[in-house]
Amino acid sequence: MAIIPTYEIDLVKAKTSKINDVDFNNLTFGRVFTDHMFVCDFKDGEWQKPQIMPYQAMTIDPSARVFHYGQAVFEGMKAYKDEDGKVFLFRPDQNFERINKSSARMAIPEFPKDYFFKGLETLLKLDSEWIKPGVGNSLYLRPFVIATEPAISASPANEYRFMIICSPAKAYYNEPVRVLFAEKFSRSADGGVGFAKAAGNYGAQFYPTSLAQKKGFQQIIWTDASTHDYLEEAGTMNIFFRIGDKLITAPNNDRILDGVTRKSVIQLAEDLGIECEVRRVSVKEIKDAAKNGSLKEIFGAGTAAVISPVSAFEHAGDVFEIPEEENSYATLFKSTLLNIQHNLAEDKHDWRYEVK
Ligand SMILES: *Cc1c(COP(=O)(O)O)cnc(C)c1O
Repeated sequence: MAIIPTYEIDLVKAKTSKINDVDFNNLTFGRVFTDHMFVCDFKDGEWQKPQIMPYQAMTIDPSARVFHYGQAVFEGMKAYKDEDGKVFLFRPDQNFERINKSSARMAIPEFPKDYFFKGLETLLKLDSEWIKPGVGNSLYLRPFVIATEPAISASPANEYRFMIICSPAKAYYNEPVRVLFAEKFSRSADGGVGFAKAAGNYGAQFYPTSLAQKKGFQQIIWTDASTHDYLEEAGTMNIFFRIGDKLITAPNNDRILDGVTRKSVIQLAEDLGIECEVRRVSVKEIKDAAKNGSLKEIFGAGTAAVISPVSAFEHAGDVFEIPEEENSYATLFKSTLLNIQHNLAEDKHDWRYEVK
């Protein structure tokens, strides 16, 4: 793949900024977008010259494959600003590798590394004012790829669009969540696309999740599709269980997304001397632990919410409340991660990536 220097990105700057219209203290996640976006089209067998332009609506032919067959993948990452105004990403190489893994599974051509990083960094420099310092503030970055070729034949497209849009965020899902363990519906199956951030994985969860919400549970913890006996992950977060002083999380496989937050928590647990077992974890084990009082915590781990504590779970009509834990691992991991992300703590694994 061709390596292109930054100056070869076609750049059209926004004439005015929308930033003064935004109340940064009252942000709803994913509603407001920055002044610019990154766009790169794939046609004639290659990625064309990348562009950065004012954030705007776009025209796509109604027959584009993305509308009919969901040939689309995405990523979720964040930029942070420290008190000196330095901008950082967190393990962005992981997101880059993952979007290409997702793309490969969806028969979408891989995106060049240089375009990804140059595009991201140029965009962040332009919209740097939108990244507010302070722990918990961030700029959520949404790279995604859609099949744009106008033709509804059920086959991979020959044309795609790679884009990055950016939305200022506060850490969300701050309230502990009540979850339901899936008994009927499944998110993914062996040989499927559960490991990919493929658009359809998320659309397919909305209906079962809306049923759970009617019963008073905000999220579903998905179980294995064949038996529903083993706990796998939440819809946008990996999941950790604490029994006694030990953490347990499911191993990655075809069905489970390989989360950056998850792998960071596993590493931090090792650094902090907390035992963490990566193995299958059954619904029965968690219900038994809840009954005998050894279940101390359940928490989700993902870029958007960082760490999201679970206050109760339901399975087969049984509801278990999880008493608040004084020395919570969830709180410990959340603050440890945020401090590394915001350049407030030592970064011994080289996870921070400064945007210069
Ligand atoms: C994005 C995502 C996660 C979390 O991954 P991070 O890299 O930690 O943000 C977990 N599960 C699913 C299904 C996801 O889509």
